[in-house]
Order: sequence, then structure tokens, then C-alpha cells
Amino acid sequence: MSATIMNGKEVAAQVKSELKQEVAKLNREYVQPGLAVLLVGNHPASETYVKAKEKAAAEIGIRSFLIRYPETVSQAELLHRVEQLNQDPQVHGILVQLPLPKHIHVQTVIDTIDPQKDVDGFHPLNIGSMQVGKEALLPCTPFGILQLLKQYKVDLQGKHAVIVGHSHIVGRPMATLLLNENATVSVCHIYTQNLKEMTRMADILIVAVGKKHLITSDMVKPGAVVVDVGINREEKRIFGDCDFESIKDIASYITPVPGGVGPMTISMLLHNTLLAARTQVKELATV
Ligand code: NAP
Repeated sequence: MSATIMNGKEVAAQVKSELKQEVAKLNREYVQPGLAVLLVGNHPASETYVKAKEKAAAEIGIRSFLIRYPETVSQAELLHRVEQLNQDPQVHGILVQLPLPKHIHVQTVIDTIDPQKDVDGFHPLNIGSMQVGKEALLPCTPFGILQLLKQYKVDLQGKHAVIVGHSHIVGRPMATLLLNENATVSVCHIYTQNLKEMTRMADILIVAVGKKHLITSDMVKPGAVVVDVGINREEKRIFGDCDFESIKDIASYITPVPGGVGPMTISMLLHNTLLAARTQVKELATV
């Protein structure tokens, strides 16, 4: 039996059409949500992501401001710009496209973003709020994966979710969100011994590593739900971290690459920008 394909493109389109109506409501209160995107250098993948984010924002009526810097920009200049954007009432969300050049300390940049404008959900205050289950701007990729799993009515409570990859932007926050849904969570990384033993235990397997076809069908329990976050570029093609063709015959649900997690990530960025705009407008009204 072949797995059900979790179509992130389709679900993201539904999310965007709902968000478009919400943005229109805000417009009637004379507010247009604004998203500032800071792009340093001209990393080809970053250029592609930024273009996709700008296009999606425009589709639903969010105004985006692209601010470009050369690879040589100083950390001080970048921080100064972030501080200006924190004060700018037209900007409700600030996104700093990663990676940044080596001479810039990423966490310092993230820490400088006003947590209310941190639409990537990477600021320690948002991460802490997520940990304790308070309302927060949630990291877009894990938040998008959770929405996709919910859309396909994947049962999470009590299930064993195994996450491969423990990055700050995907693996770790994914673990928190799944724990908040009462899943039993294991997190694997480069030092995990016998990865296959771990992945074969997963009812839900989420892979965010960045290594083409790291996960093969013999590493997947029959009937598992498989979410592939990886994006690996080879010439003009994109591959995931999972060997989709063989795994689709044994999994119950699987995400494709492309067309799975990527579009969900973008739609959650738009969701966060709208949420940030609403929060900031509400606060202004109570001052
Ligand atoms: P990252 O920061 O490089 O993290 C990769 C993680 O994988 C690290 O925890 C690393 O462990 C672990 N790892 C590396 N090799 C491993 C192995 N052989 N076995 C087990 N674990 C291993 O990457 P990321 O930012 O999380 O992104 C991961 C992938 O997802 C990339 O391909 C990225 O392009 C993609 N991505 C996609 C989206 C989307 O929207 N679709 C969003 C974000 C990221 P150590 O740190 O201990 O080395």
C-alpha cells in the first residue's frame, strides 16, 4: 500500500486564503501588516527563499520591505538597522534571512529583534514562552509541520515521535511543540549511536538534517508518518533527507520534497506577521 502524500502546497494555499481575508479585515482598520526582510550577501538559496516569501506576502496583502546588505556589512550596522525597524510602526515583522556571514554573531542579531516583531520565532523570549505553553510567535518550520500533521488528522498524543536533527530552528522547537501535544519525543543528532534503531521505533519520524537520502526504507517502521524537512540541491533538482520513492511504499503518510514542509513554513511566516500586526495594533489602542 502506498502512503498518503501530505500535500503542503495545497494546505498552505488554504491557509493563505484564510489569512488573506484576515489581512483584509485589518485593512478596514487602516492597518496594512508590514514585513521587513534583511538579506545579507547573495547566497543563491537565500535569494530564492526571500523571493518566495515576498511573493507569498504580496499575494495576501502583506507589504514587504526588502533590505539588502553586502556580505561585508558590519555587525554594528546590521544591529542599528534592526533597532530602527523595531521602532518603525509600518513594520510589524522582522526577518533576518539566515545564514549570515561568519563575522556576524547570529544570536546577537536575533536577540536585538523586538520579540513582538520576531516573526521567525527565534528570539529567546518566544522560545521560552513556547516551552511553557504561553502564546508566542512560534518558529515557522516546526509550527508549519504541526499544522500539516493536524490537517491530515495525524494522532500525536502518546505516539513516539523521533526527530533527526537538533538545530535551534527545526529539531529542538519541533520537540517542544510535539511534547506540548503529549507525544513521547526522542531527538537524534550526529552523536546518536545506531540511528536506525531509533528511527525504526518512530510512529512519527521527522527528519531535518540536510543530507540527501540519509533515511532509507529499512530505517522506517511500516505504517510510520514521515515528515522530510531536508532541502538538498543537486544541479537544478531538490532532494529531501528521506528516500521518498522507497519509503512511500511502507509509510502511512509522507511529505514530498519539494511541496511538503517548505510551503507550510512560508504560510506560518505570514500567519506570524498577521499575529504580530494584530498584537501591536491592540497594544497601541490601549496606550
Ligand atoms: P542544521 O542547523 O545544519 O542542523 C542539522 C542537524 O542534523 C544537526 O542537529 C546535526 O547534528 C544533525 N546531523 C547532521 N548529520 C547527521 C547524521 N548523519 N545523523 C544524525 N543527525 C545528523 O540544519 P537545519 O537548519 O535544521 O536544517 C536541516 C535541513 O532542513 C536542511 O536541509 C535545511 O535546508 C532544511 N530546512 C528546510 C526548511 C523548510 O522550510 N523546508 C526550513 C529549515 C530548514 P550536529 O549539530 O550535532 O552536527
